[in-house]
Amino acid sequence: MTALTLAALLAAPLTPPADANACLPVDAIQRVAAKALRGDYDPVPGYIKHLYLVAQQRGLTVQGVARLTTYCPRCSGMTCADGSRVRDGICAANPQIAMHSWVWLECSGWLKVCDRGGWVTLGYCRYGQTANVDEWLPGCVGDCWRGPGTRERVPYAVLPPGSEKARN
Ligand SMILES: [Zn+2]
Repeated sequence: MTALTLAALLAAPLTPPADANACLPVDAIQRVAAKALRGDYDPVPGYIKHLYLVAQQRGLTVQGVARLTTYCPRCSGMTCADGSRVRDGICAANPQIAMHSWVWLECSGWLKVCDRGGWVTLGYCRYGQTANVDEWLPGCVGDCWRGPGTRERVPYAVLPPGSEKARN
């Protein structure tokens, strides 16, 4: 070590270590996208990472707050409105959100819209909410659509159908 670098080290201010999250975007989805793409949540399925990449490259930001409920085999059938079987990672959404769109929710991540429902309309949204999302969750605690699985004012954003394989 030369005298010069030693002097530089001694003169360096004693700062706390840099916070790896300090320079991340403020917007909730852009913040999670940055963390997902740098590997914070690995292992993450490839299509989920791709959705975050598309969201980042398009500058997708939180569009509003959603009402989020859950449904399960005990409360509902096994076939979605699009004809596919219910499965992890899917949801019903109000009809203003196109079938097979991708909805990002701050507390659930990406869900594919494959279903509809009589409860899943904007008419059941209050508190300034602009989307109604019903997440498939087989381990329901009971009383789907209004029970303890219900969340109000969840930040959300939507990507159009096909975004899981969109080229940028
Ligand atoms: Zn249920």
